Amino acid sequence: MLNLKDPSLLRQQAYIDGEWCDANEGATVTVSNPATGEKIGTVPDMGAQETRRAIDAAAAAWPAWRKKTAKERAAVLRKWHDLMLENADDLALLMTTEQGKPLAESKGEISYAASFLEWFGEEAKRVYGDTIPSPWPDRRIVVTKEPVGVCVAITPWNFPAAMITRKVGPALAAGCPIVLKPAGLTPYSALALAVLGERAGVPRGVFSVVTGDAQAIGGEMTGNPTVRKLSFTGSTAVGRLLMQQCAGTIKKLSLELGGNAAFVVFDDADIDAAVEGAIASKYRNAGQTCVCANRIYVQDGVYDQFAQKLVAAVGKLKVGNGVEPGVNQGPLIDEKAVQKVEQHISDALAKGAQVATGGNRHRLGRTFFEPTVLTNVTGDMQVASEETFGPVAPLFRFHTEIEAIRMINDTEFGLASYFYARDIGRVWRVAEAIEAGIVGVNTGLISTEVAPFGGVKQSGLGREGSRYGIDEYLVVKYICMGGV
Ligand code: ADP
Repeated sequence: MLNLKDPSLLRQQAYIDGEWCDANEGATVTVSNPATGEKIGTVPDMGAQETRRAIDAAAAAWPAWRKKTAKERAAVLRKWHDLMLENADDLALLMTTEQGKPLAESKGEISYAASFLEWFGEEAKRVYGDTIPSPWPDRRIVVTKEPVGVCVAITPWNFPAAMITRKVGPALAAGCPIVLKPAGLTPYSALALAVLGERAGVPRGVFSVVTGDAQAIGGEMTGNPTVRKLSFTGSTAVGRLLMQQCAGTIKKLSLELGGNAAFVVFDDADIDAAVEGAIASKYRNAGQTCVCANRIYVQDGVYDQFAQKLVAAVGKLKVGNGVEPGVNQGPLIDEKAVQKVEQHISDALAKGAQVATGGNRHRLGRTFFEPTVLTNVTGDMQVASEETFGPVAPLFRFHTEIEAIRMINDTEFGLASYFYARDIGRVWRVAEAIEAGIVGVNTGLISTEVAPFGGVKQSGLGREGSRYGIDEYLVVKYICMGGV
């Protein structure tokens, strides 16, 4: 049983227009714990009608919310941040229970998630405009920034709290209301955030959470002309679909889509540091993040040494239920995720790769999988071009810097990439040549609320976090003042 200090944080209703409510027809969907298969509870199975109600409520709440001063909005966001930290243990337990990640990672995510509320509350006060020297003697030019209007967000299961606050934080800071559809597998983290948002003083309608049928809710969100902006984090396939659906009403878009991160170890790298970075980047959240190293390229001269050390480090990872102490890797999210991992491994083995460690489902059963390292991996294997989203490190061999750059960029994706090198000239050359929105140099961890997160190519549009993140929720207005 879920043993929360504050049991009221587990809500089994959706939150629309400041009310906790059920689906119109009373239908529900079940939410289960991936580590045990046990049912946690249910959430309302809502569709287009309830979504429309949430959008209408957001439109009604908008004028008063945008009229508040930035300082007033910032105070609400600050309070919400504080409440998240005060309830961090409960929020983390809730997250591990519905998502599977180790409790330590859940706690890390809660403070990361809260940081977006704090950061964007502060940024709210710095939404500066411009004055532009006028080409006319009798007219003046002023540029202001205004909230874009009613926003909607659709978020994934791999970061059940942080993917929400990095959309809701800047939206509210900018003066916009927002309606959220969280992932069906992890709705409780989202609903707990709504409980705390309500306690922090977010006015009714400014933040609503609609659970249920993704297609029906998504269809209403993207088709409804009242909605002016969609922010989505998830797969490239769904992102492409939502972008098409938004075309009808030309909505502003932020899309944070799939990645295929390269992780490159050059001959001159600090190998121990590279192993540490690879473990952090690859096995965090059981490999289920869009910035996880997906392709590991190792230069010929250090390949065997790196492989050996990586296998030794992987051997120390403890797999288990994320609530147990010392566990580094929880279950994968569902059976489909395990099947994709198995498919990538069997495809690689059939084409000549070898298993250096792992390779199979874990003896714990369910969706637990052994942390895996594959060697002799080549560009013709599926792991080279598709995101595995699981705990598999495929080691490719390369010989020259030019070859490495070509391999890194040989993908339609461009979210994050990493490399380890110490030659300063090489560091600049490679950092500049990589086609990605984020480059980690001699580090495997890059996420922070103060830096811009986002991709190029088919990894998406827009940036989240940092001072750039709030721009996604603002529109520029040029005022030309004549008769001076
Ligand atoms: P993942 O593979 O990470 O589950 P998805 O892109 O399938 O990625 O899911 C991310 C989010 O998009 C989830 O909240 C999911 O419910 C939602 N989603 C999936 N399909 C659709 C759709 N057709 N319309 C709207 N939302 C969708």
